[in-house]
Amino acid sequence: MALHFLAEAAFDDLLVAWRHHDDLKRTPKVAVTRLAASRSALEDARSRMRRLREALYPTSDEHEDVLVTALCSVLDEVVHLNWRHVHPHRPGVAVCICGEHIAIHR
Ligand SMILES: [Zn+2]
Repeated sequence: MALHFLAEAAFDDLLVAWRHHDDLKRTPKVAVTRLAASRSALEDARSRMRRLREALYPTSDEHEDVLVTALCSVLDEVVHLNWRHVHPHRPGVAVCICGEHIAIHR
C-alpha cells in the first residue's frame, strides 16, 4: 500500500527535521536557543506525522479512540479522527487533516 502523498510529505519533513536536529546535536558549541528551536521543529514534525498517520492508518487499538470517521471530500480519503484532532476551542468539532471542520456527533 502506497502512503498518501500528505503522509509521504509529512514523513519527509520529519526525516529532514530529525537529521537537522541530529547534526546540530553533534556540532560543537551550538547555541542552546538553536538546539531548542530545532527540537521544537522536530516535535512539530513528529506531531504532524502522528496526526496524519492516526487519521489515515489507525492501528486496531487506535480505532477504539476514534471520535468521527468521515470521507474527506478534499483528500477523497476516509479519515479517522480522535481527540488529537479535536478543535482546540470547539470541543464538538474535529479538524480534519486537510484543515476542514467536521462535527462530532456522539
Ligand atoms: Zn479533510
